[in-house]
Amino acid sequence: MTNEKPHVIAAAVVFCMDWRLYQKDAPQAISLVQDVLGIVECDVLVAAGVSKALVEPQIPALRESLLWHIETSQKLHHINALVLVDHDNKCGAYGMGDPIKEEQAHRANLARAGVMLQEDSRFAYLKIILAIARIDEDNKVKKIEVVGELPPRRALV
Ligand SMILES: [Zn+2]
Repeated sequence: MTNEKPHVIAAAVVFCMDWRLYQKDAPQAISLVQDVLGIVECDVLVAAGVSKALVEPQIPALRESLLWHIETSQKLHHINALVLVDHDNKCGAYGMGDPIKEEQAHRANLARAGVMLQEDSRFAYLKIILAIARIDEDNKVKKIEVVGELPPRRALV
């Protein structure tokens, strides 16, 4: 079967390590992101907490490693978008019991991470897309909600 969707973007997508995103016989977070954003080619990166790994990393090496991977994805595969996919329903990197506070923390960190990446000259040509994977009570990914988008600081000619 051929994929007849147009090649909209090539992207690097960053997910949390959380097992619920990758369950057998359940919707796969990566497929949902590809469908929602029309991504044909994508590099998949994993960092616990995703946005938190960039703005409040549990260990400094986590941010450095993630930035290095994004840069490498850009060099090797000429991506034009970077997608950060936090997830709700008790992300272990956040360790919060209150879903409203967790939602606020994800949105705040995604926004901060987006600006941080947009202002980093290494990534000036990347569109930054911010999203949250919604995980239901059955620990299955329900959908991907795009919560923000930042245009590239410089356009490719
Ligand atoms: Zn998580």
